[in-house]
Parts: sequence; structure tokens; C-alpha cells
Amino acid sequence: MTDGHDHPRPWETTRRGMMLLVSSPSGAGKTSLSRRLVADHSDLMLSISCTTRAPRPGEEEGREYYFVDRPTFDAMIERGEFLEWADVHDNRYGTPKAPVMAALEAGKDVLFDIDWQGAKQVADNAPDDSVRVFILPPSWEDLSRRLHARAQDSEEVIQKRLLKGKDEIEHWRLYDYVIVNKNFDRAYADLGHIYRSERMKPGRNPWLPDFVEALLAE
Ligand code: GDP
Ligand code: ADP
Ligand code: 5GP
Repeated sequence: MTDGHDHPRPWETTRRGMMLLVSSPSGAGKTSLSRRLVADHSDLMLSISCTTRAPRPGEEEGREYYFVDRPTFDAMIERGEFLEWADVHDNRYGTPKAPVMAALEAGKDVLFDIDWQGAKQVADNAPDDSVRVFILPPSWEDLSRRLHARAQDSEEVIQKRLLKGKDEIEHWRLYDYVIVNKNFDRAYADLGHIYRSERMKPGRNPWLPDFVEALLAE
């Protein structure tokens, strides 16, 4: 590819994909923030997880999740088809390995909306290629209000998620970045800055040494 002056543009051809791991207590806004980031960046793919939980009203097979039953999920574990999996809120959630590997090999980045256990497994296995971002709610009251406003879970499920949220928040120190999602647009801008800054790290851009060498030889 050229820029019209016959100079190669190596940054458009070879890049090393990264894994952006986003976690938060339920209701803090990770899904809304993640989906918007993916919509705004064509080089960033969303990893669609498998889950044994039932679809919420409006959720579609293959868009939010692949909804599978427990025997199917456990067979996938046996066959080694998950990059990671975890028990969360009485259900199993797991990241299918094949689409992630294909995206990374193609130089795309992959965003994971997964819990702290999953983020830890992925980052421990690939520390150089992982970036972990934790989303905090501005207050407990806001978190509870958002879960109720989303109006997709029963009161019992909401209470369970709030309880599990404490456990999730306790792991905030495992993360490279922490965003407090008070104002959505501001939190979204912060997430975008993290993503774009991380892309500029030399290690993610293997074309840089040759590029600099050529620059110096001009
Ligand atoms: P939400 O927290 O309101 O978005 O509720 P969900 O039911 O969508 O997600 C429940 C929990 O499972 C969250 O902590 C997610 O981050 C986590 N989760 C979703 N997909 C995965 C996955 O593939 N692997 C792991 N380890 N956790 C996941
Ligand atoms: P999570 O994926 O972490 O459970 P969601 O993205 O589903 O969270 O957000 C939970 C609810 O809170 C949604 O109804 C969403 O529209 C709303 N929400 C997200 N961020 C904000 C914010 N900054 N202010 C107010 N409401 C928000
Ligand atoms: P929900 O059921 O509200 O969609 O998600 C509940 C929690 O499960 C969220 O915190 C979400 O991040 C997490 N989660 C979703 N998919 C995965 C996954 O594939 N792996 C792990 N570890 N957690 C997941």
C-alpha cells in the first residue's frame, strides 16, 4: 500500500494484535462501553462468549452470546475449545478459542467482556499481548439503580449480581487501567485513549525497526 508518494505504509500491513480485557461488576457499563468501542474501530473485534445462562429479552444468539446448555458447554471444555472459562453468577461462561486466534493472527485486536477470573487466565497466559481495563461504578447506589433500570433481570438475580459485584471489585488491582463510569461519554473517551495508546507501544508494531532503519537511510 502507498500514500500516493510511493512510500510504503508498513503500519497498514503488519501489526501484532492485542487482547483488551474489560471487566466490571454487573451493571457498571462494560457491555455498553465495549460495544461502542468495537463499533468505532474496524481493527477491533468483539469476542462472543458461550454461556449457559438463558437469553435476556432482546438478546440474540451469536450477537450477545452463544447460548448453550450445560452438557454442550462441558463437552467444549473437554475438547479444549475454550481460551478460558469460569463459573459466574451460577452459570458458566467461556471464550471460544478459534475466533480469537484467527483475529490475532490477522493482526486484529480482540476485546473481551469477561469476569476477573477469565481476564486473569488470559493475561497470565499471554502477558505481553494483554491489556486489562476495570470499570467501576461511581457509587453502589448508581450500580443498583442501573441494574434496575436495565430491567432485564429479576430482583433475585439483581441482588445476586450486586453481591458478586463486591467480589469482582475486590480484584481491581489486577488491572492495568481503571475507569470510573460516571459520565458515559467521558468514560468512553477514556477507554478509547487507553486502546489507542496501547496500540502505539513499539512491541505491538513489529514493522517499526525496519521503518526507522529506512527513515535513517533516506
Ligand atoms: P453483565 O455483567 O450484566 O454484563 O452480565 P453477563 O451475564 O453478560 O455476564 C456475567 C459475567 O460473566 C460478567 O462478569 C462477564 O464479564 C462474565 N463473562 C462473560 N463472558 C465471559 C467469558 O467468556 N469468560 C469469562 N470468564 N467470563 C465471562
Ligand atoms: P454491564 O455490562 O457492566 O453489566 P451495561 O453496559 O449493561 O453494564 O450497563 C448497565 C446499565 O447502565 C445499562 O442500562 C446502561 O445503559 C446503563 N449505563 C451504562 N453507563 C452508564 C452511565 N455512565 N450513566 C448512566 N447509565 C449508564
Ligand atoms: P451477563 O450474564 O450479565 O451477560 O454477564 C455476567 C458476567 O459474565 C459479566 O461480568 C461478564 O463479563 C461475564 N462474562 C461474560 N462472558 C464471559 C466469558 O466468556 N468468560 C468469563 N470469564 N466471563 C464472562
